[in-house]
Amino acid sequence: HERHAIPNKSLKSSKDATPSRFVADHYNSKVEVGVERRRESTIIFLRSFNNWIKSVLIGKYVTRDGHALDMGCGKGGDLLKWNKANIKSLVGLDIAEVSIEDARKRWSDMKGRRFDAMFNVMDCFSSNISDVIPRDTVFDIVSMQFCLHYSFETEEKARITLNNVTSNLKSGGIFIGTVPDANWIVKKLKSLPKDQLKFENSIYSIRFEQKDNYPPFGHKYWFYLKDAINDCPEYLVHFPTFQKLASQYGLELVYKKRFHDLYNEVKEEPHYRELLYSMRVIDKRNEEEMSDDEWEATGMYIGFAFRKK
Ligand code: SAM
Repeated sequence: HERHAIPNKSLKSSKDATPSRFVADHYNSKVEVGVERRRESTIIFLRSFNNWIKSVLIGKYVTRDGHALDMGCGKGGDLLKWNKANIKSLVGLDIAEVSIEDARKRWSDMKGRRFDAMFNVMDCFSSNISDVIPRDTVFDIVSMQFCLHYSFETEEKARITLNNVTSNLKSGGIFIGTVPDANWIVKKLKSLPKDQLKFENSIYSIRFEQKDNYPPFGHKYWFYLKDAINDCPEYLVHFPTFQKLASQYGLELVYKKRFHDLYNEVKEEPHYRELLYSMRVIDKRNEEEMSDDEWEATGMYIGFAFRKK
């Protein structure tokens, strides 16, 4: 089942390109390895865990027959989750052309598909969503999984993003997502010896360029995640700043949990327990779970939900 991404010609020069071009090229150049290969990688439990978290969030907040927008949808890794949640339609947007092609193909090849979808290449942090969707589109739910932090490069980008999230979201509609927890990251950074700017384990590394200034936007660090993200620039999302900004777009926080807390909160509930086994977060045969290093890496994320007033 191996498929290879189309080689991206602009990759060579991408280090010099704009940050969003750099990020797009990074995701474009990732090779689609297929389910079997993924399970051999050393972060299989972490990947499964992140998928499980997203399933929980989607399951908690999606309404049947809803219209969904997935911003930064990537290769469409959440398509099965949307199908299971019985949505009526999906708009998937991402800046990485190759990922959008993959998502579109995955959707059209999907067995037992029950929803309509359209996929578009778009820089969701710089341009307006009305360029790609009809003006009268109304979403019940907007999802941004593991991508909002790229928009915290500047306040302007964060605002454009939130405008895109909310402009077609119905009142009472939900905005869900997952982001790294700036508090957790900064605590780690501050606990380092004076002149050190990097911390890591065998799964991930985070490297800052300085630790004297803590600007609300554009606080850059370099992130590496084994077999997934190869030293990509990311930006801290200080949650209170995000929440305050979001409130200016009519968004009210209804849920915020660190992944570990979310896990502990629902893992014994029969439905979610079954999902932990079926999504292979826990190996049912021997109750094996992820390694300590994977667990530490998953601990840096937060799942959230806002409701539009
Ligand atoms: N949401 C997917 C998931 O959970 O599997 C993909 C997550 S991946 C870590 C981050 C995604 O954000 C990538 O697909 C990347 O191309 C996308 N992204 C980064 N900057 C973007 C931008 N300016 N506009 C749209 N998508 C962007």
